[in-house]
Amino acid sequence: MKPISSGRLVSTHVVRLATRKRATRQLEQVFKALQGDHTHPFAHEIYRRVHKKLPRISLATVYRNLHSLVEEGKIRSLLLDEQAARYDPETSEHDHFVCERCGRVIDLFLRRARRIDLTPLAKDGYVVTTHNLTVYGMCQVCAARRRTSRPPRPAVRKP
Ligand SMILES: [Zn+2]
Ligand SMILES: [Zn+2]
Repeated sequence: MKPISSGRLVSTHVVRLATRKRATRQLEQVFKALQGDHTHPFAHEIYRRVHKKLPRISLATVYRNLHSLVEEGKIRSLLLDEQAARYDPETSEHDHFVCERCGRVIDLFLRRARRIDLTPLAKDGYVVTTHNLTVYGMCQVCAARRRTSRPPRPAVRKP
């Protein structure tokens, strides 16, 4: 074996291993950044968090990692009526409450007494993967704040 070719072979192998190691570390950090966070953050918020640990990571890589974590079923993504997806470490079946005042998105674990009958959709040729309920209104914090703050008194005009 010629020393040059074997040397080249080893170095490519090392580079490839290092790349794979970096990819795994990035995926782990993206996953970790979302754990315990129940605010349903956007990708750019997760990016900001991961960037502190891995300053060389790009937003595109974070997007790619989030996408593969969703594909693997390790996290969930949800689209409310916004342009961008939010990410959710809670993978069990649940619904969401959206506060129209502060924009908070809260997990709801409602008892589902009756399941929605989706068989007509299948008959019409739709392929259903999942469905969920989004409840809109005011969160507990905003509702409490409104109760404690007095309504403004109507201005009394002096003649
Ligand atoms: Zn609120
Ligand atoms: Zn959720």
